[in-house]
Amino acid sequence: MTKDKQYGGLDTFKLIAALLVICIHTSPLITFSVNADFFLTRIVARIAVPFFLMVSGFFVLPGYLFERSRDTHPLIQFFKKAAFLYAVAIIIYLPVNLYAGLFKGLDVADVIRMALFDGTFYHLWYLPAVILGALIVFLLSRRLPFHAVMVVSLFLYGIGLMGDSYFGAISGVPVLSTAYDAMFHVFSYTRNGLFYAPVFLTMGAWLGHSTRTCSMKMSAVGFAFSMMLMTVEGFALHHLGWQRHDSMYLALLPCMYFLYQLVMKWDRKPGPFLRSISTWIYLIHPLFIVVVRGAAKVTGLEDMLVQNSLIHYLAVSVLSVLFAVLIAKLPIFRKKKVFQKGRAWIELDRAALHHNVDALRALLPNGCELMPAIKTNAYGHGAVLISRELNCMGVNAFCVATVQEGAELRKNSVNGTILVLGYTHPRDFSLLRRYNLTQTVLDLSYAKVLDRYGKKISVHVKIDTGMSRLGERSEKIEEIIRIFQCKNLKIEGVFTHLCVADETSHESIKFTHTQAKAFYDVIAELHQHGFTCPKKHIVSSDGLLYYPELAENYARVGIALYGILSTRADTERCGISLEPVLSIKARIALVKDLFAGEAAGYGLQFVASQDNRIAVVAMGYGDGIPRSLSCGVGSVLIQGIKAPIAGRICMDQMLVDISNIPNVKSGDVAVIIGQSGNERITACDLAEQDGTISNEILSRLGERLERLLI
Ligand SMILES: *Cc1c(COP(=O)(O)O)cnc(C)c1O
Repeated sequence: MTKDKQYGGLDTFKLIAALLVICIHTSPLITFSVNADFFLTRIVARIAVPFFLMVSGFFVLPGYLFERSRDTHPLIQFFKKAAFLYAVAIIIYLPVNLYAGLFKGLDVADVIRMALFDGTFYHLWYLPAVILGALIVFLLSRRLPFHAVMVVSLFLYGIGLMGDSYFGAISGVPVLSTAYDAMFHVFSYTRNGLFYAPVFLTMGAWLGHSTRTCSMKMSAVGFAFSMMLMTVEGFALHHLGWQRHDSMYLALLPCMYFLYQLVMKWDRKPGPFLRSISTWIYLIHPLFIVVVRGAAKVTGLEDMLVQNSLIHYLAVSVLSVLFAVLIAKLPIFRKKKVFQKGRAWIELDRAALHHNVDALRALLPNGCELMPAIKTNAYGHGAVLISRELNCMGVNAFCVATVQEGAELRKNSVNGTILVLGYTHPRDFSLLRRYNLTQTVLDLSYAKVLDRYGKKISVHVKIDTGMSRLGERSEKIEEIIRIFQCKNLKIEGVFTHLCVADETSHESIKFTHTQAKAFYDVIAELHQHGFTCPKKHIVSSDGLLYYPELAENYARVGIALYGILSTRADTERCGISLEPVLSIKARIALVKDLFAGEAAGYGLQFVASQDNRIAVVAMGYGDGIPRSLSCGVGSVLIQGIKAPIAGRICMDQMLVDISNIPNVKSGDVAVIIGQSGNERITACDLAEQDGTISNEILSRLGERLERLLI
């Protein structure tokens, strides 16, 4: 539920926000113009803290608000991190607190006020606020649907407003001012975890979940307009003398809504380093305000360093940034990002994927794009990893088999058209709309079911041109026209599927041409009846390789994209060079000596004919390795040498004979598919041993394997 997608724009804006917070605390323009300073620090810079809150909501809360997730682990991790920073900050500021005599004469109420709401230093309220705010939103999400949580958060914000910028509005109302007076015994400001944080956390989560966001242009216009409103609002309230504090405005809400979307779409390289220095700048800058003022006093440079507010601001900023960079470079704060490979994993070769995409694109006729088949977890490779990588390469259309596969991609921010090739139960029609997926119309009767749903659904119409699987029969023109007449179907494409495009016989070639002709006849008939077919597509991998002239608008390539074809012979004959993307590897759990005559495994099917050594490899049929490879049919590679599979493959383990491989030890890596030294095993080899095609081997590779792109 947490996103591992990287948003470079968010990282960069965090730094800008941190520098804006320093503005709030140093008033850089005050020497020059009171109004300019008010505009900068009391209006513009007020976007900084809501932005931090939204980023937290964006990454931590969508699962709870939208998927009713019961997995509290991410939330607890988040609390731990915030609490850790809070503890560190309290310690950092302790000497200043003691020097200022803050802790003299405190009672229990003061301690609670400080710990829960105000913080022990003027900027530290943020950390308890983000914890309390997230806790409130989480608890609300247990009982209420998202919309209600939003309403409650807005209501809390409203209460907060009346104690902040709009204080003047209630100070004349006796009941209310008594109530607010009472509240201000518990906390010093309504800008806190209870009234201020929830709405921004919720809004961040909403933008983290929603797939329908504003365009860049709309966000920019919306932001500029809301900022204008907030300027008017801020100055008006200031002149009315209503502001008890100036953190909360009405226009701040739309401002943040648009700003966040702008920043989210800001196309920048991800910067984990920027992310961590922003946090440290936030935490440390008040200390440097003290330091700069102290230094100015000692050196007698107060005129320059303090009286000139801009120089003061720059001095504090430069010191804070330098310090933050130093801290972020400290090893204990540097998260080791190196992926530790565990028991068993799938490695994806990014360069090979790029190579295959280029090779396949070279075959496309003009006006045709790739529409990779990402079904069955991208043929076992990992659908999210693969489609994100393809997104980065400019691929903007995908096909999947099921609506859940499509939703999974959208939840992980995959962009572009996603066509669901197979049957979707009416129960799940709402998911098509929620995740902006395109459904295949399987035939006329299915079209009617889709149409009866009553809301517009994007579809591609499938025509059966001879495979006799999905699609309305090509000769049933009247039925096809009736599909086109359905009011609620937004028809964006028409397609068919070839079934003997890989075969070289004369009849097969003839059959493929018959299929193509039947398809084009349907298109012509539709044109005659005044219907246009925006996108047409016919070919999958084999079709593109052998009939590229049929590719039309999309080539639905699956297996070829992954660098092999269904069999080794197919791969050798296809005429272009493809590189396998996937390797599959597992650790050796332990090594064991067997004496001549001893046996091993279920059914004791392996018998050592002489003194022998075996290794237990931590992978089995539960990971997708066909059990038919047992007893020497298949092998694995260790140190570039083939080790035959010994005895029967188990669910989680297999034994391999390593008698002729020296120095094998526990923790070594066995390659099940992939390269090791000069040897290579491909999915086609496994397919041949198992009597199937590589597609089946790949698509059955286990869910429980970790996948990484290298
Ligand atoms: C799976 C599938 C594809 C992709 O096929 P490959 O042979 O792997 O390229 C294309 N179209 C449809 C309808 C499919 O089901």
